[in-house]
Amino acid sequence: MGRDERGVTPQSEDFSAWYNELVAKAQLVDRGPAKGTMVIRPYGYRLWELLQAELDQRIKDTGHENAYFPLLIPESYLQREAQHVEGFAPELAVVTHAGGKELEEPLVVRPTSETIIGEMMAKWVSSHRDLPLLLNQWANVVRWELRPRMFLRTTEFLWQEGHTAHADEAGAMRETMLALGLYTEVCRDIAALPVVPGEKTPGERFAGAVRTFTVEAMMRDGKALQSGTSHYMGTNFADAFEIQYTSQAGRLERCHTTSWGMTTRMIGAVVMTHGDDKGLVLPPRLAPYQVVIVPIGRGEEVPAAARELAGRLKAAGVRVHVDDRDHLSPGYRFNDWELRGAPVRLELGPRDLESGTVVMAMRLGQEGKRTIPLGSVAEIMPGVLADFQAFLLRRATEFREARTRTADTWQAFADGVTSGWASAPHCGRAVCEDDIKAETAATPRCVPLDAPPSGGVCVRCGQPGAYGKRVLFGRSY
Ligand code: AMP
Repeated sequence: MGRDERGVTPQSEDFSAWYNELVAKAQLVDRGPAKGTMVIRPYGYRLWELLQAELDQRIKDTGHENAYFPLLIPESYLQREAQHVEGFAPELAVVTHAGGKELEEPLVVRPTSETIIGEMMAKWVSSHRDLPLLLNQWANVVRWELRPRMFLRTTEFLWQEGHTAHADEAGAMRETMLALGLYTEVCRDIAALPVVPGEKTPGERFAGAVRTFTVEAMMRDGKALQSGTSHYMGTNFADAFEIQYTSQAGRLERCHTTSWGMTTRMIGAVVMTHGDDKGLVLPPRLAPYQVVIVPIGRGEEVPAAARELAGRLKAAGVRVHVDDRDHLSPGYRFNDWELRGAPVRLELGPRDLESGTVVMAMRLGQEGKRTIPLGSVAEIMPGVLADFQAFLLRRATEFREARTRTADTWQAFADGVTSGWASAPHCGRAVCEDDIKAETAATPRCVPLDAPPSGGVCVRCGQPGAYGKRVLFGRSY
């Protein structure tokens, strides 16, 4: 097999083809038989498991408990919250027949679980002592997507959905921001994605939410990817499902609820934020194999030494793999692990063994190849991996900053969203957002939480700016 068969279209030539070819060739995913569905292969699923473990730990550490609710939801449940059903109706998959008969009431395959969890919350909450109720579920959901794309937008995806009920707005808003903080942290510290946390403008809110918050990441083509969302529902779902409690004063009160979700889309975010023409570049904290050892040459001695080294790395807490496919040339195996994004490669041949060293190559080729004493590899590796993780975050942050333009004129705005994001005053009117979208394909990504106060008139229509700060615009996935 030659390099060409496994190579991918260069990123700069066709970003979209690069992505589609890469996720398949790196064996993250395969197409499912039904339109828009995906098969997550072991290498991709391991990545998801590692992300999931980090997020799950943080969800539990902040007082939430995992539960599981049914996949099938009576259609009438969705109809109880008018905005919710209107928003989700076009994306619903509905079961009308089962057991060989037409059902009396159709069942919806959950697109999200506010309704069924709302129904249960109403049963479980009666007194202020039952609050806050802090639930999370790990599950699959189905949304009938018209323009599917592996990981980014599939008709079935995996996620966690947090659902909480609180006594008042203050408690629910604290929770909404807490979840957004967890997402920001997991994106930054685990996936090396320097996301911008902020609030969605009214036109981009979740169906049924009072306020929607998001973390937005910039991909290497300058487009935005919404990477997680956290919603404050007010009493909308509590009103629809009668989630209520008796207050300390003995009055019957409606709960304030939240929901928040992060999905398998994150795998796509990692691919498109760090990957290059050679393939994936995985942040060590998510890499199924942080270090791959490639033994070179035949015979018993080198593979045995490779296994021994792997044992020491494993004992040092490193995820390591020995690629001993000796029917494949070393060069082929090197390329393969570059394609699959292993952060560190160790090359071990008979001569290295003789001199008691190993050759280390980083996935991005920084510092060239280094020769390291065999005896110190396990000791230095955690530090090498931590540095690589930090390097990826720094590189992505610099990229985002270089491609974010502060725009006060229409021309600067239009230029900004061609190659990245534009930060500009906006009037906040939906018609003006639509107008911007029609002209540039850019949409408001968020009103960043940490943007400084700023005045100015709308970059499009000249009316007074809303929000008291600049809004971030960009084209998006
Ligand atoms: P939502 O419940 O609509 O707020 O969605 C929660 C998160 O799911 C969003 O922030 C997206 O990152 C992600 N998401 C939405 N639709 C899909 C999809 N079809 N495939 C993968 N992830 C999705």
